[in-house]
Amino acid sequence: MKQIAVISGKGGTGKTVVTGSFAALAKNKVMVDCDVDAADLHLLLHPEVKERHEFRSGQTAVIDKKLCKKCGKCASVCRFGAIKSDYTIERFSCEGCALCSHICPRGAIRMEENVAGEWFVSDTQYGPFVHAKLGIAEENSGKLVAKIRQIAKELAQKQNLEYVIIDGPPGIGCPVIASLSGVDCALVVTEPTLSGLHDAKRVMEVVTYFNIPIKLVVNKYDLNPLMTGKIEEFCRSLNVPVIGKIAFDKTVVKALVEGTTVIEYAECAASNEVKKIWEDLQ
Ligand code: SF4
Ligand code: SF4
Repeated sequence: MKQIAVISGKGGTGKTVVTGSFAALAKNKVMVDCDVDAADLHLLLHPEVKERHEFRSGQTAVIDKKLCKKCGKCASVCRFGAIKSDYTIERFSCEGCALCSHICPRGAIRMEENVAGEWFVSDTQYGPFVHAKLGIAEENSGKLVAKIRQIAKELAQKQNLEYVIIDGPPGIGCPVIASLSGVDCALVVTEPTLSGLHDAKRVMEVVTYFNIPIKLVVNKYDLNPLMTGKIEEFCRSLNVPVIGKIAFDKTVVKALVEGTTVIEYAECAASNEVKKIWEDLQ
């Protein structure tokens, strides 16, 4: 079983368009959407949720009003201003440090585990799909990403699937690192803009640090041939193969509007290039 992570370093490069197309092209695989902050692969895969699980992470203080004597000690030590004047907790300000619970002379403060999101195992017409939804304002430390990757890997082993295909989050932080750990290949999808090049460079540094083989795709390459040239030059300097250049193609936009992958929507320049990219990856 091989694991492939599709990443971009920044949002909006067309990473999910490429990953969604792989869902239509790859035969024995499980798809995983690790962009748990702003998941969108489900818009193309149309999952039927089979399992739904709570994701618990972090703690929030809770004050027992019956025990509280309003001495104010807890509020005086809370650096986050999370304890209101009526001695209730402002949920989104509480960082869960638990200091107040140790300070309270009445033992009136307990720490409660947060339900920080949900994760799902679904069926799709393309095979199994593991995905998640992080709660509003919940911290994305990478734990939820690690959880759904573990579930996807177990599923692939159980069903003897050939690939785990990961739609990675943007950026270079903990969720990206959690998406990359132990993968066999990272496919960087970028766009020919200054920020596309800058963020691709950053994420490639992270991938290189973990000794993961990298391949790169330039999406909408023909919109800025000069910048595409700079990206190719940079890749050459690192010996990173550029395995595809997808031209800007309105068919892709039409496919997205219809909620389907460009592979299924129509044969066009973009779909042919993505097929070539998948061949190369295999
Ligand atoms: S320290 Fe304890 S008793 Fe004092 S105000 Fe806070 S919760 Fe109430
Ligand atoms: S747990 Fe920490 S952040 Fe939350 S209310 Fe208590 S002292 Fe403040």
